[in-house]
Amino acid sequence: MDLQLLKSSFRNIFNTEPVLVKSPGRINIIGEHTDYNDGFVMPAAINKAIYVAVSKRDDHEIHLYSESYQQKHVSSLDNIEKSEKGWANYILGVADQIKKRGYNFTGFNLYLDGNVPLGAGLSSSAALECATAFALNHLNGLGISQMDLALISQKAEHEFAGVNCGIMDQFASVFGKKNHAVMLDCRSMKYVYIPLNLEGYKLVLLNTNVKHSLADSAYNKRRLQCEQGVAWVKAHFPKINSLRDVSVGMLDEFVKPKDLDIYQKCRFVVEEIERVVKAADQLANGDLVALGELMFATHEGLSTNYEVSCKELDFLVNFVKDFDGVLGARMMGGGFGGCTINIVRDERIDVLIEQVKISYKKEFNLDLDAYVVETGNGSELAV
Ligand code: ADP
Ligand code: MG
Repeated sequence: MDLQLLKSSFRNIFNTEPVLVKSPGRINIIGEHTDYNDGFVMPAAINKAIYVAVSKRDDHEIHLYSESYQQKHVSSLDNIEKSEKGWANYILGVADQIKKRGYNFTGFNLYLDGNVPLGAGLSSSAALECATAFALNHLNGLGISQMDLALISQKAEHEFAGVNCGIMDQFASVFGKKNHAVMLDCRSMKYVYIPLNLEGYKLVLLNTNVKHSLADSAYNKRRLQCEQGVAWVKAHFPKINSLRDVSVGMLDEFVKPKDLDIYQKCRFVVEEIERVVKAADQLANGDLVALGELMFATHEGLSTNYEVSCKELDFLVNFVKDFDGVLGARMMGGGFGGCTINIVRDERIDVLIEQVKISYKKEFNLDLDAYVVETGNGSELAV
């Protein structure tokens, strides 16, 4: 991102000096659909980010401009309402949450640009929310903690985007650290940084470039199915509040007889939480082969049991399964499109990308994008 250009674009529109903030997109090594079940996740921030240039205003107005959409939006701080412009809602939602927490702040100008691919499962939406939250906190000296910036952003996504997401994406965007993944316990909110030692290998994302419309409704439905499973177990073990505390044995006894579909969904989550714990050990031991196998197992679970994959994602994971130099692969993110994440040996990356592009095009008549991932830091001032 050209920061000088960002600044001058801001000046041209708003006629004043901005502060620049960046907040990254994220990948997730393993731990899918576990965040809203109080489980573990293992995301990392990437070197693709949303950038915002911001300044305070003397009045109570919010003036927004999106470079990608070439659109302006104006709103009053005193009466923040949802807009038909999807992109503006992520920003308005954050301002609304900060206000609801009782913080006082002035109107602001915000110019937005970024290079996180939209809707690819790299969480451009969380990056946008977290950039906004970081910027408003900084501009007004509100003293909001990093964890609260993430929580405010998550709540904004619930209320202004209508996606009842867990905390992983916003957490990763705020807390990411270059060359590290972060293992987060979504129940205690404790986290540890795990060095990403991938010597000789890299993480490669293959973007299906599809996002099936089922995604948001299926996501919300899965959440309800998990809650139902917990409720059936809780009837016998009152202390249990989430799938984090549930064993496969409990599911066999109390959920399977009631509803086989809900059983399958809950079982995936319970097993996926275990896989994240194993993956942390494997990364610490440098055992990338074992980690790769776990990723394939996660994909199998997401596709067959949790049923959030799609034919494009399954095709990509199948394609790399027997490809020399690929240790592991799985769909990443909520599902029904977006990217797969792959561990690939350095010297096999180019040939893999070349061949998978050809096959994908042949199969779906669609172009595939590939990104070799570099990790990056979480939300920060951009200078
Ligand atoms: P994901 O978070 O997986 O990228 P979402 O559908 O949750 O996909 O969020 C994408 C939305 O976020 C876009 O439709 C747009 O409204 C907003 N957005 C993301 N990046 C930008 C950007 N650079 N400029 C404007 N809006 C953006
Ligand atoms: Mg999103």
